[in-house]
Amino acid sequence: MMEIKEIREKIMSDISAKRVEDIIVADLGLVEKHKKYLCHMHKDTHPSMSFFKDGKMFKCFACGGTYNIIDHYMQYKGYNFYDSLKQINSNFCLNLQFDEQFREHKRPNKSTPPAKHSSTACSSMVKGYLVLTLIRLIYYVAW
Ligand SMILES: [Zn+2]
Repeated sequence: MMEIKEIREKIMSDISAKRVEDIIVADLGLVEKHKKYLCHMHKDTHPSMSFFKDGKMFKCFACGGTYNIIDHYMQYKGYNFYDSLKQINSNFCLNLQFDEQFREHKRPNKSTPPAKHSSTACSSMVKGYLVLTLIRLIYYVAW
């Protein structure tokens, strides 16, 4: 039997970057401009999210959010971590060995759902930017 960490690593290594990008782009209807996408993790008006083939994930330069195939199954399809791995395993025919014990004993991040986490990171980033803009304005007016 494989450890849950090994299964996660196998999923990340066995599914091609191209496939990850295509599936997420199609499901979310991401709009591409000059190899960049409008970010779905914050209110993006200029495309600020790129797909990284090495990490097989999207990364947004504006909000700092990242999004991979497991995030996609959890946040878009609504599965928990364990079920996301199982779904990916069967949808991509990876033939990974699952131990049903994992369901009860090894479900990580029970208390902090990643969707909620990334949206708080996004809004505090925006607040930080607004405060900075305000400080700059005051500086210009004062001098
Ligand atoms: Zn973003």
